[in-house]
Amino acid sequence: MKIRVGHLYPDYLNIYADRGNIAVLDARARARGHELAVRALAMGDPVPVAEIDLFYVGGGQDREQALVAVDLAAKGPALAEAVARGSAFLAVCGGYQLLGRSYRDRAGVELPGIGLLPLHTIAGERRMIGDVLLWCDWAGHTLAGFENHAGRTHLDPGAEPLGRVLAGFGNDGESGYEGCRAGRVYGTYLHGPLLPRNGWFADRLLADALAHATGEEQELPLLPDELEAEAHAVSSERARRRGGRF
Ligand code: GLN
Repeated sequence: MKIRVGHLYPDYLNIYADRGNIAVLDARARARGHELAVRALAMGDPVPVAEIDLFYVGGGQDREQALVAVDLAAKGPALAEAVARGSAFLAVCGGYQLLGRSYRDRAGVELPGIGLLPLHTIAGERRMIGDVLLWCDWAGHTLAGFENHAGRTHLDPGAEPLGRVLAGFGNDGESGYEGCRAGRVYGTYLHGPLLPRNGWFADRLLADALAHATGEEQELPLLPDELEAEAHAVSSERARRRGGRF
C-alpha cells in the first residue's frame, strides 16, 4: 500500500533532527511491505486535501515559526477539511504550537495558529529543556523524548493530553500533562527525534494513515524493535534521573 505523507515546511521547521521521524516512518512502512510517498508542502503550495494520509510538521525557533505562520494559516481550512475526512497529523513542538489557536512568542508577537487542536501557547522566560518521559494511558505505553521550548501550552477544558508527565516539564511545567491528541491528530513537544525511540507511536501513526488510505482500521504486525527498545530505555532512564522541574 502507498502511504502518502505531506511534510509541511521541511526547510523551515526541522529542528533537533525532527526530519528523522520521516525516516522512521519510511523504514517501518517498508518493513511491512508498504511504501511511504513523501511530498513537501512548502510556502505557497496548495494542500492536496484528498491525497494525503498523514501530515507532518516539525519544530522551529520563534523566527522560523513567524516565517511560516501566515502561510500555514492560509493552508488551515484545507488541513481542517483533510483531518475531518480522516487524515492523520503529527505536529512537533513549534509545529504543535501552530496547530493550536495561537502562539505568543518571546517578543510578545501573537502568531496565528490553525486551531486544529484545542489549545493556545504563550512563551515564558525560562526555557523548558531536557529529557521527558510520559505515560500514555490511552495506548498503555510510555513515550520518551527531549524537550526544548519557551512556550507554555494551555489545553482547553476537556482537551485530551498525549500523556501524563512522569519526568520533565510537559506542556507548561505545571499541569502534569504533555501534548494533545484529537482523533488522529497528535501534537507533542517531544523531539529526539521522537519516533526512533518510540516504535509503538510510529506504528500508531502508520495505522491511522493506512486507515485513511483504505477506509478500514488497521493493526500492523509487530517488529522485533530491539534497538528501539534500547533507545527507549536509555531515554527513559535519562528522564527519570533528571526528575524534571526548574
Ligand atoms: N519556538 C518555540 C518555543 O520556543 C518552539 C521551539 C521548538 O520547536 N523546539 O517554544
